[in-house]
Amino acid sequence: MIELRKDYVLDRWVILAPSRKKRPRDFVRQPAAVSAGSNVCAFCRGNEKLTPPEIGRINSPDSSGDWSMRWFPNLFPAVEESGQREVRTDNTFYTFSAAYGSHEIIVETPFHDRQLWDFSDKEVRQLLQVYCDRIADLGKRNSIKYVAVFKNHGIEGGASLAHSHSQIMSTNILPSLIREETAAMKNYKSCPYCSIINSEKNSYRRCFENDHAVAFTPYASRFNFEIWIFPKRHFRQLSGATQEELAGISRLLQQALAKLKELNAPYNYVLHYLPVAEDGDFHFHIEMQPRFSIWAGFELTTDIIINSVAPEDAAKFYRGED
Ligand SMILES: [Zn+2]
Ligand SMILES: [Zn+2]
Ligand SMILES: [Zn+2]
Repeated sequence: MIELRKDYVLDRWVILAPSRKKRPRDFVRQPAAVSAGSNVCAFCRGNEKLTPPEIGRINSPDSSGDWSMRWFPNLFPAVEESGQREVRTDNTFYTFSAAYGSHEIIVETPFHDRQLWDFSDKEVRQLLQVYCDRIADLGKRNSIKYVAVFKNHGIEGGASLAHSHSQIMSTNILPSLIREETAAMKNYKSCPYCSIINSEKNSYRRCFENDHAVAFTPYASRFNFEIWIFPKRHFRQLSGATQEELAGISRLLQQALAKLKELNAPYNYVLHYLPVAEDGDFHFHIEMQPRFSIWAGFELTTDIIINSVAPEDAAKFYRGED
């Protein structure tokens, strides 16, 4: 069973997903292996049989019958729809449940060498629409409290496969981070992000803007070239966006990705939203986190991040001034 456990006292959780029979000596660092080059990629067109059964697909616009995106359960899930899903506490300090939920992969393109940053606005929008649909579908299942949507790109971004893909993970708890952000928003009379967007779109941290969305480097950026994308109108989750707003958000995501391509950046991005069932308010956004630096002792001791690129300089780069 994959287990979900809470820290003794902090609102901090881990998923224990032991990989099959990995022994301590298997962790010994080896010099980077040279790839044999003949590895078959399960995500490439023609290798569909190598993945678990497909949940859905988008057909390519030509009439070839081929797909342009497809999604299916992760062969190595970090959560499973089995086991005891209610969180309980034994002997005061041991809070746990099964790591209950589902873990899916969206392969964004049939082509091995094409990355998300090569996509058109329209293709990025299709991907956001798939995110929306998966959140709606998985979010209404029993015991599911959150559907996490994220992308890992590059080795430092945690992508174990080079073929461009996103991941969707539903879980039986609302992540502490989302709970914390929702709680912090309650300290303001109205949505802080609605004001922040207005202020940042005219600041040194402005990056991109269109009729429906704004992108800026956050004031206290924790990552080199971190960039956030917000819809201008206030809504809690992506499904609240109109088609025009979805297009506006996709356009900014595409613009940010195109700049990250210039740096060949490893990166993660994550969707932040509050599910319908939860109390409180939220302003949907996407946080994009390039992964150039490694958090070390100071960061781990203090939770204070040392960032060597000022967000004002990063914004210049995004605006093409540097
Ligand atoms: Zn591939
Ligand atoms: Zn707002
Ligand atoms: Zn956030």
